[in-house]
Amino acid sequence: MSADPDCLFCKIIAGAIPAEIVHDGERTLAFRDINPQAPMHVLVVPRAHAHNAADSAEADAAMFAEIATTARTVARAEGYDDYRLVFNTGAGVGQTVFHTHGHVLAGRPMGWPPG
Ligand code: 5GP
Ligand code: ZN
Repeated sequence: MSADPDCLFCKIIAGAIPAEIVHDGERTLAFRDINPQAPMHVLVVPRAHAHNAADSAEADAAMFAEIATTARTVARAEGYDDYRLVFNTGAGVGQTVFHTHGHVLAGRPMGWPPG
């Protein structure tokens, strides 16, 4: 899907809203979460607009794979081999931005199961 003019992350991708970008990939972009929940909290997003991880994976499997490899790249760049990669899917579990994004969290102990 092409950019959605009303989508916050499409605006960040377009450069219309500033963000602290940590990785600028061909098909993905990674930037720091504005409200970090761990010492490292980066969002990895596909440049192409889609509502959630499954929709992105269906649209372009190679692009979706790049989200996972980008998560590893950005975590390693900050010295973390261990990190959590989370895709909230649906408002009922806390998704608030309906443009696919993987949360990359690292740098503190994390409970399981998640709250
Ligand atoms: P969700 O709740 O949809 O899984 O995650 C959305 C994330 O986007 C939240 O962690 C929230 O802090 C982050 N966020 C919301 N608005 C902005 C923004 O304008 N800039 C950045 N960098 N992150 C944002
Ligand atoms: Zn979007």
